[in-house]
Amino acid sequence: MNATDFCADLIRCKSVTPNDDGAIGRIADFLSAFGAETEILTFRSADGGNVVTNLFAKYGNSERKILGFLGHSDVVPAGDGWETDPFEAVRKDGFLIGRGAADMKGGIAAFCCAAARFAERPFDGTVEFFITGDEEKGSPEGIRSLIDSAVRNNRIPRDCLIGEPSSDLKTGDRIYIGHRGSMNVTVKSRGRQGHSAYPAAYKNSLSALCKYIAKIADFRWKHENQQFPTTNAEATMLFTDNYAVNVVPELSSANLNIRFGDDYTIDELKELILREAEGFEGLSFDFSVSGEAYCCNSEELKTLAAAAVKETIGVDPVFSTAGGTSDGRHMIRFCNVIELGLPDSTIHQKNEKIKIEDLENLEKIYLRFLEKYFA
Ligand SMILES: [Zn+2]
Repeated sequence: MNATDFCADLIRCKSVTPNDDGAIGRIADFLSAFGAETEILTFRSADGGNVVTNLFAKYGNSERKILGFLGHSDVVPAGDGWETDPFEAVRKDGFLIGRGAADMKGGIAAFCCAAARFAERPFDGTVEFFITGDEEKGSPEGIRSLIDSAVRNNRIPRDCLIGEPSSDLKTGDRIYIGHRGSMNVTVKSRGRQGHSAYPAAYKNSLSALCKYIAKIADFRWKHENQQFPTTNAEATMLFTDNYAVNVVPELSSANLNIRFGDDYTIDELKELILREAEGFEGLSFDFSVSGEAYCCNSEELKTLAAAAVKETIGVDPVFSTAGGTSDGRHMIRFCNVIELGLPDSTIHQKNEKIKIEDLENLEKIYLRFLEKYFA
């Protein structure tokens, strides 16, 4: 089976998080057909709610060098407005259209097909597959449980390739070598309610909150490590419980999402957020951290990936740390991580699609990468 057919097969599974709809089973069947050992692992979320289906698989006969491949089989909901059925995997004008085509069933299909072709010859090492079913919901269980299991069984890879969509205009033109960290700050503002015509009687929670948000949005962030884009803080939500145009609200709240390079630790950012609130009355803060900034330090892995791209399609990829966080933020604590996958221009959009040529090239790049890695 080629990567396009396999990707189409996976798109037809409606694996909107946390549903699996057979996607993990299909990947396991594909891998075991060429001799990989597969283990389907289900984890219940910490609150006892959803069961998430995940896959660990491995192929190889020596532990000399272990390469991990990390991906997720779940997708975000399709939403409305598609020109084709988002789960039918329609092919049109050289494109494969469907939810998850780029993010990231295409990457999984390309790597599995490359691994199947690579497995036709003997090699000295092991390829491990970590496929999770809940990445799109912030990975509460999938990757952390798979990593825990790998640590317990002493099978953490040395390097890990993530098949997330990383490219810009064509497959291989960009490799993510890390990402900025992400922190959410809920800012609550408490004032005193009153009639808006009587300023002496009220304290406006909403005005105070807006002034604070504007101050943070305009903050001049230091930018010493140029490997990461500049830190930015964006107001993403604003609430107030008001019900009339002439009532000054007592309570208001907002969410700030901060994306930061390694110029800041999480503690430094928290201190900064609190320090900037000095002089404001009635503000309180809650922090939730999705991940720290990280960057791959293995020149060997970066060079090898870039060479695999260059030798396959003649392009010199750029290394970047832009884009959102991925499960790489969990894996980086144990091994080197890079992301190399399809173009990301249609992910999480209606009519998500990939050029079939890009998918075919990705399979070739992965095969070249495997050859070089285990050479
Ligand atoms: Zn993804």
